[in-house]
Amino acid sequence: MKTNKLQLIFLLLITYLSANGNIKIHRVEPSNWWVGMYNPELQIMVYGEDLEGCKVVIDYPGITLKDVIKVENPHYLFLNIRIGESAKTGEFSIDFLQKGKKKTSFKYPLLQRKARTNPRGFTNSDVIYLLMPDRFANGNPQNDNLPGMLETTDRTNPDGRHGGDLAGIIEHLDYVKDFGATALWINPLLENNQEKYSYHGYAISDFYKTDPRFGTNKDYFKLVDRCHEKGLKVIQDQVFNHCGIGHWWMKDLPQSDWVHQFPEFTRSNFRVSALVDPYASKADREKMNNGWFDKNMPDLNQDNPLLATYLIQNSIWWVESASIDGIRVDTYPYPSQDMMKLWVQRIRQEYPDITLLGEVWVGTPSIVSLWEGDCFNKAGLQSVFDFPLYDAMKFGFTEKDDWNTGIVRLYDILAQDFLYKDPFNHVVFVDNHDVERIFTTLHEDYQKFKTLITFILTTRGIPTIYYGTELLMTGEEKLGHGHIRKDFPGGWPGDSINAFTEIGRTPQQNEAFDFISKLIKWRNENPVIHSGKLTQFIPEDEVYVYFRQNEEKTVMVVLNQNKEDKLLDTKRFAECLVDCTNAKNVITGETIGLLDTIKIMPGEPVVLEMERMRE
Ligand code: CA
Repeated sequence: MKTNKLQLIFLLLITYLSANGNIKIHRVEPSNWWVGMYNPELQIMVYGEDLEGCKVVIDYPGITLKDVIKVENPHYLFLNIRIGESAKTGEFSIDFLQKGKKKTSFKYPLLQRKARTNPRGFTNSDVIYLLMPDRFANGNPQNDNLPGMLETTDRTNPDGRHGGDLAGIIEHLDYVKDFGATALWINPLLENNQEKYSYHGYAISDFYKTDPRFGTNKDYFKLVDRCHEKGLKVIQDQVFNHCGIGHWWMKDLPQSDWVHQFPEFTRSNFRVSALVDPYASKADREKMNNGWFDKNMPDLNQDNPLLATYLIQNSIWWVESASIDGIRVDTYPYPSQDMMKLWVQRIRQEYPDITLLGEVWVGTPSIVSLWEGDCFNKAGLQSVFDFPLYDAMKFGFTEKDDWNTGIVRLYDILAQDFLYKDPFNHVVFVDNHDVERIFTTLHEDYQKFKTLITFILTTRGIPTIYYGTELLMTGEEKLGHGHIRKDFPGGWPGDSINAFTEIGRTPQQNEAFDFISKLIKWRNENPVIHSGKLTQFIPEDEVYVYFRQNEEKTVMVVLNQNKEDKLLDTKRFAECLVDCTNAKNVITGETIGLLDTIKIMPGEPVVLEMERMRE
C-alpha cells in the first residue's frame, strides 16, 4: 500500500514536472523548405525533450498543419504540413504549447525555390571525373582535426583520414577543367563521425551536414557554383541504404523499426541476383535487403513511411539547396525498391532534367538491365554503371586470347545491349574507388592501358576517369581500400611532388595525362562519339574494329592486341566506309590517304576521323 502511494506521488510529480517542463528542441529536419515546389506536402521531423503532451501550432497564411505524428520514442514528433499556393516566402513560427501556454518556438524559413529546370543533367556528351574528397587535396589544414570529431588525421594510415577537403577541390578545379572532364562526381561529403574508416564518406552520421573536416554546407554550395561558372556539372553521391553507426539517431531511434535489427550482427549477402531470381528464397531476399552493409553501417528500413519521406525530402533538399546536376545512388538495389521507385518519381516531378545514376554492381547484363530504364522499378533511372563492361575489360585484357576470352569479351558484352533501354547512357569506367587501380590490374602495361582508355572514350556510354588514373596511379584492392584511394600527389602542403602541374609529373605520367586529355577534348567536340550509331565487327586475330557514325561524321576505332605490325585490310568494313576518302588519326594527328589498308602497330589503338565525300 505504502509503495503504491509513493508511486502515485512520484507519478503525479513527474506529470507535473513534464507538464511544466521546458520543451527543448534539438533538431528540426529539414531545417528549411521552399514555396513553389511541385509537391506541396512537407514532413518535418522534430527531435527534442519534453515533447510528450505538447501541442503544436502554426499560424501562417497558406500553411496548414495537417497532422502531428507521435511515435514510440517521445523525443520525436513528425509534423505533416501543406504549403499552399498562397504561402509566401518568409519565416513561420512553429509554436510548442503546454497547457495552452507557449513554451518554445522554432522559426522555420520558407524560401523561394529556383527554376524547376535548374539542374541540367549529364549525358553521353559528358566525361566524368571521380574524386575522393579526403584524398584529393587539402586546401585547409585548419579543419583536419576538429573538436567533437572522433577521428583525427593520420596520413601514414591508408585507412585513416588524410585531410583533403572542399577548399582543396575548389583550388584545383582548373586542373579538372584543363584535363577536359565536364562533370565532377565526388564521393559523399556528409558527416561521418566515427572512430575509424570515416574518410570514405559512406557511413553518414548527419544527412543534412557536410563533414566539418571537408568544410561547411556553404562551402559545398560554393563548390557547385564555382563548377557551374567553369562549365563543370556536379553529380552528388547519395546513400539511401544505410547510415553510419555514428549517426546521431542511433543512440535514440525514433522507432525500433527505423533500422533493421537482428539478435546478432547480420550482414547482407550482397547477392543482387536474389532480388530477381524466380526461385529465390524469402530468407535470401530479406538478408540481401535488410542485412547490414557493414558493422559500422546499419541498414535503414525504408519501408517505414516516416523514414522513406525523410530520405526522399533529404535528397530533394540537397538538389534544391545546391543546384546539383545529377545524383549517383550508392548500392541502388539494396534499399527498399518500393521506396526507390517513389524517390525516382518525386525527384522527376521536381526536377525533370536531373540525371539519376544507380550503382547496380553486378557483372550480368540481364540483371543490370532490370534496374535500367522502365524494367524492374518502372520509374526509370537514366543511367547505371556498366559493371558487365568493366568486367569484360578486366578479364579480357589479363587473360589468353581464345574463342570467348581476350578482346572478344568487349564485343560479346556489347552484343547484349539489346537487353537495355538506353545503353548509350551507361556510365563506363576502367576503375573506380571500389576496385583495383586499372594500371595495377594490367600489370602496368601502358599499351593495354591506352587501349582501354581509348575504348571507354569512344564506345557508347558516359566515360568516367577516377582521379589518379591519368597519373597511372597504382593500387591493389586486396591490400585494402586505402591502397586504391591514395593521396593525389601535390594536394598537401609540403608534398615533395606536385602532379597537378606538368613539371611535377614524370615523363610517363605526362604521356598518359596528355593522351587521355587529348582524346577527351576531341570527344567533347564530337557528337558522333556521344550519340552516333555504333557498329562493331567480330574481333579477328586480336584486332577489334568498330565505327561510330552520324550524319556528319564517321569514326573508325581499331583496338589491337596482336603483337605484330600489320596492314589491316579494310574490305571487311566496307559497309561503314562508304564515301570515306581519307582519314585523320586523332591520336597522332597523321593524315592517311588510301584506306584500302591501315597500318597498325602492336598494342597501339587507332582512332580515325574519316572525311566523307560530299554529294
Ligand atoms: Ca583539411
